[in-house]
Amino acid sequence: MEIIRVPRIMHDTSMKFCMTGRTIGFVPTMGALHEGHLSLVRRAKYENDVAVVSIFVNPIQFGPSEDFEKYPRDIEGDTEKLKKEEADIIFMPEISSLYPDGFLTHIEAEKISEKLCGAFRPGHFRGVATVVTKLLNIARPTRAYFGLKDFQQYVIIRKLVKDLNMDIDIVGCPTVREQDGLAMSSRNAYLDRVQREAAPVIYRCLTEASELIKSGIINAQYIKELMHERLLKEPAVSVIDYAGVYEPETFDELSEIKGDTLLAVAVRIGGTRLIDNMLVESRENPDLNSGNIKNKVSQKKEI
Ligand code: AMP
Repeated sequence: MEIIRVPRIMHDTSMKFCMTGRTIGFVPTMGALHEGHLSLVRRAKYENDVAVVSIFVNPIQFGPSEDFEKYPRDIEGDTEKLKKEEADIIFMPEISSLYPDGFLTHIEAEKISEKLCGAFRPGHFRGVATVVTKLLNIARPTRAYFGLKDFQQYVIIRKLVKDLNMDIDIVGCPTVREQDGLAMSSRNAYLDRVQREAAPVIYRCLTEASELIKSGIINAQYIKELMHERLLKEPAVSVIDYAGVYEPETFDELSEIKGDTLLAVAVRIGGTRLIDNMLVESRENPDLNSGNIKNKVSQKKEI
């Protein structure tokens, strides 16, 4: 396994793979790797000749009062894990090599970046879209792998790749959970024992809401209210940023469930912000489900 820190070397290495006809699977991460990340790495490895994993805590996607400084970092542990997975390359650029003095250019998928997490983290998705565009330009992958745990991020990346005519398949990968349902996240490390025990309420809330939809309930407001009630019953939940029922491409809040439906939650437990989501097919309207987003989790090239 090779560790590359310089963007130009990463780029040239990828171009050599391309020129010899080898496919590159790319997994962008911020490190502190867990099984969720590693599931993406395994898939990248399985579906491509070469697996490249980037580790970069991207300063421009954190707000001024967010956790950039204290975001968990574990380069040694990450390197060991990636060696075990037989990743081929770790790309670990310095901040100054991605954002040199005078950096001025940003990427933004309008509208969809302002909804859900975007409404509570202004500039977050602009930072994500910018760094992912840069990383894709440097690593030149055939396919890039993203977790559906960050569903909005996945949709935004798919959109920017399409809008910017980038010849890359964006592959969405299922959320990996702890045994009690909590979605794995590097930020789970911030939770104390009581908070950790409370955190699976998010998964239970999503599961219950999805069961209501599957049982035929189409009143989205009713489901939203039940979700809020469920979350607020848990004393460790200090703030609900959002919890509700959304259209999975636009993230508009739904009043009535018609087709594929995104259930999404962002809460604070103590000082830790946790997000999770679930995509639900509505049995009520099976016609609307053909060509749905589930079938598009591996986006084909649309140039
Ligand atoms: P991060 O390091 O948090 O930026 O995440 C890097 C990638 O791993 C993103 O595409 C995430 O969506 C994905 N990811 C994070 N947690 C999980 C999880 N529990 N299951 C699947 N993918 C995940």
